[in-house]
Amino acid sequence: MARVKTAHNKAEVAVFPAPGHDHDRCSSDAMAVAEARCGERGQRLTPIRREVLGALLESHQPLGAYEIMERVSPAKPRPAPITVYRALEFLRENGLVHRIESRNAFVACVHTHGAGDLVVFLICERCGTVGEASSSEVAGTVRSAAAAAGFTPKSPVIEITGICTHCGKKS
Ligand SMILES: [Zn+2]
Ligand SMILES: [Zn+2]
Ligand SMILES: [Zn+2]
Repeated sequence: MARVKTAHNKAEVAVFPAPGHDHDRCSSDAMAVAEARCGERGQRLTPIRREVLGALLESHQPLGAYEIMERVSPAKPRPAPITVYRALEFLRENGLVHRIESRNAFVACVHTHGAGDLVVFLICERCGTVGEASSSEVAGTVRSAAAAAGFTPKSPVIEITGICTHCGKKS
C-alpha cells in the first residue's frame, strides 16, 4: 500500500484516518504510548505482547485471533494460541487493544483515553475500518439509563455499523 506523508497531528487523530495517511506515524505513536503506559504501571511489553500489538497496528481494521496468530512471526513456528490470547488479554486490560464483539475481532487503540471510558465503535461495512468516537454525552446517558435500571455497567461499549466518511465520498 502506498504511504503518502501527510501533516499529522497526534492531538487530533481523526475518527476515520484518511486513506493514504501517515500510518507509520500512527503505529509508532501507538507503540510509544504502549511502552510508556506499561512503564508507568511497572509492567513489561514483552516480545509477544509487542508482536501482537504490532500485528494489530498494521491497519485500522480489526483482526480475529487466528489472523493475529498468522501475522505474529510468520517465519517462525506459530505461537501457541494461549500465548496470543494472554497477550491480547494484557493489551485489553491496559486499554491498548479493544475487542469488537460483533466481529469477534480485536483492534489496536490509537487514541488515548481511560481504560474504562465508554467508546463508540463505528464500523465501516465497506472498508472494515473501525473508528473510535468517544462522547461524554453518550457516556452520561448510558450511565443514567443503567443507574435507572439498577444496573452496574462493566464494559460500556457501543458498536455501530455503517459507511465511513471516506467510503461515503466514493459512492
Ligand atoms: Zn493509521
Ligand atoms: Zn480506544
Ligand atoms: Zn470505509
